[in-house]
Amino acid sequence: MWTLVLNSGSSSLKFAVIDPASGETRISGLAERLGAEAASMRLDSDGVRQTHSLNGGSYAEAMRLVLAELDALGLRQDVRAVGHRVVHGGSRFSAPAVITPEVLEAIRECVPLAPLHNPANIAGIEAAMNAFPGLPQVAVFDTAFHQTLPEVAYRYAVPEEWYRQHGVRRYGFHGISHAFVAGEAARMLDRPVSDLNLITAHLGNGCSVSAVAGGRSVDSSMGLTPLEGLVMGTRSGNVDPGLHDYLARVSGLTLTQITAALNRESGLLALSGLTNDMRELEEAAARGHDGARLAVEIFVYRLAQGIAAMAVALGRVDGLVFTGGIGENSATVRAATLARLPFLGFRLDDAANTAAVRGQSGSISAPDSLPALVVNTNEEWMIARETAEVLSLTPR
Ligand code: AMP
Repeated sequence: MWTLVLNSGSSSLKFAVIDPASGETRISGLAERLGAEAASMRLDSDGVRQTHSLNGGSYAEAMRLVLAELDALGLRQDVRAVGHRVVHGGSRFSAPAVITPEVLEAIRECVPLAPLHNPANIAGIEAAMNAFPGLPQVAVFDTAFHQTLPEVAYRYAVPEEWYRQHGVRRYGFHGISHAFVAGEAARMLDRPVSDLNLITAHLGNGCSVSAVAGGRSVDSSMGLTPLEGLVMGTRSGNVDPGLHDYLARVSGLTLTQITAALNRESGLLALSGLTNDMRELEEAAARGHDGARLAVEIFVYRLAQGIAAMAVALGRVDGLVFTGGIGENSATVRAATLARLPFLGFRLDDAANTAAVRGQSGSISAPDSLPALVVNTNEEWMIARETAEVLSLTPR
């Protein structure tokens, strides 16, 4: 059977048609800059990549193109379910949910927690319900995996009313990826995931570390929103909570402007004064660009601190996993991070680290080290698997 996986953003649509049992992907694609003149869609199928201009096309037009492609491949009638990535499920969702009017309403109630993401996810669900009226639709939440966090990890030291009335607590994100790579790491280590205490580092445009004990998340560096924690491409990660008030007073910026800048104009981009792209930063640092060097150094320092913090949550650490665009590709970041963590028992195998690139999962640690692994994440496959599982669909 095939599952259509949709990841709907405010101006983007990522999709894939996947066999949940094997992970085989029949077609995948990404529409970007929707609504703008430069809107385009990239399609990958049978090893061939095509790019279509969408000329200011909307989300609905991107969806029509997806349907046309499924028809062209004779795939539409073989799709048995649609799985949606939904960013915020609040405290309500600790597992994927078959979408009913009540579930959709509950996702809507989480909009204040993720004002940029959840509305786009809801629009994607509604579009898919129109496009595939007969098919079951499932919401797979980025927060659900972290609903197992103990209270000691998820509560902030703030007035209790904020927590009770407004849900001010730590939720954690990237759960789909952390769950997937923890499972893959257990397979690579040839041990049941239930026996393993793993630290997983998802390092993409957004970055977070998670502590996974026996396959369950017990801590995450991300909190109420995906802004907390590590330095990211354009997000600041942790700052002093007093920053907002101070900056509003001295600069006249509004809270909205400050939050927008912490999300979109901070992180690697701000530190380097150059770019949020780690590959470009490494190249610039190698050429002697001081801002790029500082950005990479601070990124690594805060990442190593984040990993050490996850060790506190676990007590005993059995392995570390790097994933995401940076985690899977940047030998420099991995080496510099492990170099800061000898006290946890990590020692690098230089040759294995240099050889580990995207598309190949493998170990990068020396024989006398705690295992450090590079694992290629596959969030689309995880969403397809969870969708099939919650619907009890049988494989092809
Ligand atoms: P993702 O969001 O998972 O696609 O990750 C995007 C991040 O991965 C960007 O910062 C990219 O610069 C980074 N990245 C991708 N390829 C490489 C590479 N070969 N070396 C360093 N960083 C990379």
